[in-house]
Amino acid sequence: MRTTADVVIIGGGIQGLACAFHLAAKGVKQVSLVELEFLGSGSSGRSAAMLVHAMWSPQTILLSRLSAQEYFAFEQVVGEKFEYKPIGHMNVATAAAEAALRAEVAMQQNMGVPIQILAPDDIKRAVPALNVEDLVLGAVCWKDGVIDPHAVMQAYARAARQRGAEINEMARATNIIVENGRVRAVETTQGKIATPIVVNATGARAREVAAWVGLNLPIVNYKRHIFITDEFPAIPRDSPFVMDTQVEWYFRKEGENVLMGMGREESTSFEPQFEPEFQAQVIEQAAHRAPILLDAKILRGWAGLRALTPDDLPILGFAPGVQGFANCCGWGGHGVMHAPAGGILTSEIIVNGAASSLDVTPFRLERFQ
Ligand SMILES: Cc1cc2nc3c(=O)[nH]c(=O)nc-3n(C[C@H](O)[C@H](O)[C@H](O)COP(=O)(O)OP(=O)(O)OC[C@H]3O[C@@H](n4cnc5c(N)ncnc54)[C@H](O)[C@@H]3O)c2cc1C
Repeated sequence: MRTTADVVIIGGGIQGLACAFHLAAKGVKQVSLVELEFLGSGSSGRSAAMLVHAMWSPQTILLSRLSAQEYFAFEQVVGEKFEYKPIGHMNVATAAAEAALRAEVAMQQNMGVPIQILAPDDIKRAVPALNVEDLVLGAVCWKDGVIDPHAVMQAYARAARQRGAEINEMARATNIIVENGRVRAVETTQGKIATPIVVNATGARAREVAAWVGLNLPIVNYKRHIFITDEFPAIPRDSPFVMDTQVEWYFRKEGENVLMGMGREESTSFEPQFEPEFQAQVIEQAAHRAPILLDAKILRGWAGLRALTPDDLPILGFAPGVQGFANCCGWGGHGVMHAPAGGILTSEIIVNGAASSLDVTPFRLERFQ
């Protein structure tokens, strides 16, 4: 492992890897990334892998737009194929959630997102498995779809290495040395790396890492479960991702199987334990919204953490008070789809002194002060 670097990135999830690639692509010679376990072992390897243009806020729509530009030109930019299944993303709402969904759709339409409003009959035609009796509204964006986060991470890692970056797995950062208000070095289990710049891309551990330099990040980790059923042809492969907005329960096809996700429990543990018994709650929602799923057998599942800020926007850029300490964290439930944006903006801030692809004011840590 290098003993000096221009930039050290802590965290080998999809965000840290996007940062490594974009920094190296912008000509930063000595980029060193340290990952405590293996690439993608945090949240990036546990997501539902959706890329959504129809996001809930103007800022997240802009992040999706910037990210989609890179994802859909991945081969030209990164040099590897981008696997994408544009199955569509549908939100469905009962009367209690109708007003919120209508307001969201109006905002999305204003921003030019190709979103389509659906009446219950349209929802039923698009997804016959759904019980639409208590639904009043749906909204679908057919451009949205499923990506392969592992392929993206490996592609970023290879492309970063080809441009001179070093990616170290099983290397845990244990401390950041700050002298006279400036970052000087990162201590790791494989040795010390002297560096003037650190990027905190540690996902659920971002708060812990920022505390090493005296910062208090307003990030709370929430646990979410995903369950995978056996092969289930009764729901066709081209069925869209469906989210029941009020209960935050969703499903989509995963190959021949069905993936279901749910959960929003605060977690103080960084190692989210899979709780098989949680499937009772997931099945309860399935029984109501897509009763046909009661015929499916759950084969396996996992739990992951979403690191959420109070406004559900990321924290990006250099932090006040500590020279050389940049954050790229707080990505909540959208860090996989927004990895290109995280990498592009962080590298612009570090290399050019300011982001130019997007106004990052809404993502600065200072907004919480
Ligand atoms: C169930 C679930 C479903 C989701 N679905 C979606 C989705 O459909 N679409 C989407 O865009 N997003 C989704 N997300 C959110 C997405 O997974 C995260 O926002 C994203 O993975 C965050 O990426 P990251 O690189 O910031 O964090 P992580 O992937 O968690 O990476 C951080 C890395 O830092 C490492 N690390 C931590 N501390 C240290 C240290 N001290 N030293 C060295 N390394 C360290 C960790 O080991 C980890 O690998 C979902 C999340 C969950 C849990």
